[in-house]
Amino acid sequence: MSVDMNLTRAQFDEVMVPNYAPAAVIPVRGEGSRVWDQQGNEFIDFAGGIAVNCLGHCHPALVGALKEQGEKLWHLSNVMTNEPALALATKLVNATFAERVYFANSGAEANEAALKLARRYALEQFGADKDQIIAFDKAFHGRTFFTVSVGGQAAYSDGFGPKPQSITHVPFNDIAALEAVISDKTCAIMLEPLQGEGGIIDADPAFLKAVRTLADKHNALVIFDEVQTGVGRTGDLYAYMSTDVVPDILTTAKALGGGFPIAAMLTTAKIAEHLKIGTHGSTYGGNPLACAVGNAVMDVVNTAEVLEGVKHREQLFRDGLNKINAKYHVFSEIRGKGLLLGAVLNEQYQGRSRDFLVASVAEGLMILMAGANVVRFTPSLVIPEADIAEGLARFERAVAKVVAA
Ligand SMILES: *Cc1c(COP(=O)(O)O)cnc(C)c1O
Repeated sequence: MSVDMNLTRAQFDEVMVPNYAPAAVIPVRGEGSRVWDQQGNEFIDFAGGIAVNCLGHCHPALVGALKEQGEKLWHLSNVMTNEPALALATKLVNATFAERVYFANSGAEANEAALKLARRYALEQFGADKDQIIAFDKAFHGRTFFTVSVGGQAAYSDGFGPKPQSITHVPFNDIAALEAVISDKTCAIMLEPLQGEGGIIDADPAFLKAVRTLADKHNALVIFDEVQTGVGRTGDLYAYMSTDVVPDILTTAKALGGGFPIAAMLTTAKIAEHLKIGTHGSTYGGNPLACAVGNAVMDVVNTAEVLEGVKHREQLFRDGLNKINAKYHVFSEIRGKGLLLGAVLNEQYQGRSRDFLVASVAEGLMILMAGANVVRFTPSLVIPEADIAEGLARFERAVAKVVAA
């Protein structure tokens, strides 16, 4: 098809809404952590579709699940339930604090459900005054109007008319600032246990504890947005599992489908009760096709082999990036956890993460930014060690070019 229609990047500007600025290359095929473009150029994938392709491209277990379900049943709507959804919900309940699952199609949708549930819960348990949502600067929770308003970058929510109300932002990891704004009117505190889009910023253990303690004191719910950190990304199935804090609501998406759109909101039975029949819903949420793939992802990822492998690969990345930095002096710090890593640009390279990204593409490597000052790596959780070595060699050449330019 691409040959017949002679599809090019230039056409993007003619037929697509201009809200993205995609790279010049058009990938057409992927296998594991390698991707090929229209001209057959090969790329090592350290981006993983923004922390989505947790098992690389076209993993046999996921392709198998998709093909098998694709020949059985794709869609029913929530007028009827289906076996893949029941199986996946059971796996998520067995593997986490949660007792109830709501399926959606994207991270933003799962977060939208979480926020609506928190508001409902507070309204029905404590009255209409209890509607304040506390969130954090630089947080990212998706692009629906509610979630983008809860997110911590006003630039993303400005310019669309009146915003949802009663949302308060405070600096991340700032216990005093949180204490200053929380009250009995607070219905929920929403946060990423490790901020992704905001620059790969880990939550301090003391801060997380304070979030839980203050929320409990004021009968507020704690919502963990694990859309990016979830499904093995940090070396635990969910990032909360290596903290002392258990959330009341957790959202998961991105890696949950390994590249097929699916998301879920997890919570307790007591809280879930407040999304009564008819209060919320989604046409595609929990469809058999997506859930079949989600089941395959969970079966592969939630194993000691894969989760331990993430920690081992993290070390390979850290060692490699530190070596590059010892030679070229571009980073002030390598931060993050598991395979959600950020190389923070030092004083001299402030604002230039895009230059590193562009130079990497030219060397046959796909990486990401997390803001203008952080180069982000979110590869497949099972990326072969040889691909890590080759990708880092390409990254070193890209860094050398940026430094020499
Ligand atoms: C990507 C992301 C979202 C939004 O997910 P979509 O699937 O794009 O709607 C929400 N929260 C976090 C933490 C994310 O990284």
